Amino acid sequence: MATIFSKIIRGELPGDIVYQDDLVTAFRDINPGAPTHILIVPNKEIPTVNDLTNEDERTAGRMLLAAQKIAEQEGIAADGYRLIINVGKHGRQEIYHVHMHLVGGRPLGPMLCR
Ligand code: AMP
Repeated sequence: MATIFSKIIRGELPGDIVYQDDLVTAFRDINPGAPTHILIVPNKEIPTVNDLTNEDERTAGRMLLAAQKIAEQEGIAADGYRLIINVGKHGRQEIYHVHMHLVGGRPLGPMLCR
């Protein structure tokens, strides 16, 4: 079964895509937690960071370079932003298709609630 993110990447479900290349796709989070909230997702379906292999090295690197480009595109690069990857149950990952959250557009609070 394809993940909801695979369906967005393939254009089978609506998504506000802001960036796409041969390895990754980025689209706006449906429930944004900040003025800019974008998900950067490998085109290949990889459930969690735990499932990455050496073959995915270029894809993993591309996720960061895409984040850099998108932050520039969104006009938030200079002020800064946060990149988050949730992993598994303790990380409260909801969608089991690796994704990196790019959030910014305002000063963000502390990273973790203690
Ligand atoms: P995570 O908890 O890291 O797995 O985050 C999953 C994220 O996916 C949440 O921030 C959701 O708001 C977002 N999300 C779920 N469904 C969609 C969708 N159809 N389009 C865009 N974002 C979505």
